[in-house]
Amino acid sequence: MAKKGHHHHHDYFHIVMLPFMAQGHLIPFLELATKIHQTTYSSFKITIASTPLNIQHLIKHQNHNNDNIHFAELPFNPAQCGLPPNGENTANLHSIDEILKLIQASSSFEEPLSSLISKIKEEEGHPPLCIISDMFFGWANNVAKSPIFPIESPPVPTSIRCRDYQRITSSGGLTFEEVETLGLDLLRKYIHLPIWSVGPLRPLPLKGKETSMANEECIEWLNLKDERSVVYICFGSQNTISAFQMMALAEGLEKSETSFIWVVRPPLGFDINGEFNAHEWLPKGFEDRMKNAQKGFLVHQWGPQMKILSHKSIAAFLSHCGWNSVLESLSCGVPIIGWPLAAEQAYNAKMLEEELDVGVILTATVESVVSNEEVKNVIEMVMDQESGKGMIMKKKAKEIEVLMREATMEKGKVKGSSINAIDDFVRSILPTKTMHM
Ligand code: UDP
Repeated sequence: MAKKGHHHHHDYFHIVMLPFMAQGHLIPFLELATKIHQTTYSSFKITIASTPLNIQHLIKHQNHNNDNIHFAELPFNPAQCGLPPNGENTANLHSIDEILKLIQASSSFEEPLSSLISKIKEEEGHPPLCIISDMFFGWANNVAKSPIFPIESPPVPTSIRCRDYQRITSSGGLTFEEVETLGLDLLRKYIHLPIWSVGPLRPLPLKGKETSMANEECIEWLNLKDERSVVYICFGSQNTISAFQMMALAEGLEKSETSFIWVVRPPLGFDINGEFNAHEWLPKGFEDRMKNAQKGFLVHQWGPQMKILSHKSIAAFLSHCGWNSVLESLSCGVPIIGWPLAAEQAYNAKMLEEELDVGVILTATVESVVSNEEVKNVIEMVMDQESGKGMIMKKKAKEIEVLMREATMEKGKVKGSSINAIDDFVRSILPTKTMHM
């Protein structure tokens, strides 16, 4: 082992990041890496490790070249785990079962990750300062606790703690102090580990499977609409509702006579990336009727969500309440109608309604059934932004939009909570003797 005082062969500190292989995790990790670089304390080298296909995605997304962010490929054979040949990212998977398989299969990274850490240690004289791992990668703790890591300053294999119990390690767009006050208080009370709420990260528009034409079209369509007159509907990157519920949603939308833009995918039980059979899953003639009346625009498969949400015509978001979607919506001051489907989405929806007053829950569980009448009523309530609950939701969403902007702002010595949290995290991982700040 390298001797004290001689082990800084390089004048940087290394951090290894392990994002889960889904759009909503990879991009926030990239953003977090960028943010860590922007702290003034020290120079970091960050290596994001993932499977080859996901590394390609990340490189494509990294608009500006950053010499300090590196990528390491972890070998992975999807077919061996019963996944489709390109099943390295949830975007290429067809069901929740396959997503679970992908999570399980990730434990096969333990060995390549250990090798990566050893290689870094060999080349740089000491192991990385820490591993920032996604919540789905419990096995990463084995590597962090393994004998490769011990160094003479306190070993700090750590994961960024955030959100609630479901999200014990970093994922999604990350939370920030002002939004999850209650959750963070509870975490700090019961989990005796440091917690840094480093969010919100600047939401990056995700490039998906969209055809650029549909992209342009839906924005042009929105341009023709009145300010705050349209409801946007989307269930995230990997979820869908049942055929029965799709029908109720369509009927409710039509009854409400509210303009909408809806990202549609085949319902549960069908290949989510497959062909959309409108005649089977939507009311008869629905798409044409909505198009002719200029009432509704259906986007197939993938919409430019950030572009849509930030458009002035959007008044509300009917969402599955995935954490990225929540933050993206609030960052645009758009209130949320919650239709949670999986993971921690029901908690997110509850928080939006009960703690933040920016949301209303349409249905809390996947088991309960939503009627077209309920869809109509909730949309009418939220779209009336001049009175009642709709007005409060809009007002609160606007307030949070401001808080989010302030959290990431830096004006001279005054820093927002997000910047402070990242500074603090960085300070806590640096070996004590380098702490001259
Ligand atoms: N997204 C998008 N277009 C779509 C569906 C999703 O751009 O048609 C993006 C959305 O902006 C968000 C991410 O995909 O950044 C979804 O993440 P979220 O945490 O909301 O849900 P998940 O997909 O993880 O369930």
